[in-house]
Amino acid sequence: MKKYSCSHCRMLNCKHQDREYPKFCPTKELTRDDIIEIEKLYNEDNNKEISRISAEIEEEFYCKYTRVEEIIEFAARLKMNKIGIVACVGLMEESRTFAKILAKHNFEIYSVTCKVGAMKKNRNNWFG
Ligand code: SF4
Repeated sequence: MKKYSCSHCRMLNCKHQDREYPKFCPTKELTRDDIIEIEKLYNEDNNKEISRISAEIEEEFYCKYTRVEEIIEFAARLKMNKIGIVACVGLMEESRTFAKILAKHNFEIYSVTCKVGAMKKNRNNWFG
């Protein structure tokens, strides 16, 4: 039996909330207890502050700032001074450019590529 998920959805009722949810919608699967649990997680540790600032950035700068500018603003508001970059090795040039921009804004950068560990993709290299 074919499994459906959000990528098959044309209703997007989770966003619009004035339509119907499709039969396979994961939102429909959530119980009241699930939602209470999720709300608790949002309030744990520093998740609440991260969520709040993330929402502020979207509200103030969506379609005004580039994603790079949004990240800089987000990190600044959270008073971060170190940013990690995880990038595909095929995007190293872009990653370097991003790192340079962040460095100009006085962030300390630590970056890794998807090839860290230098493992070959053959069967003999898989654990177990
Ligand atoms: S959560 Fe439900 S309504 Fe939202 S995109 Fe997924 S399937 Fe569609």
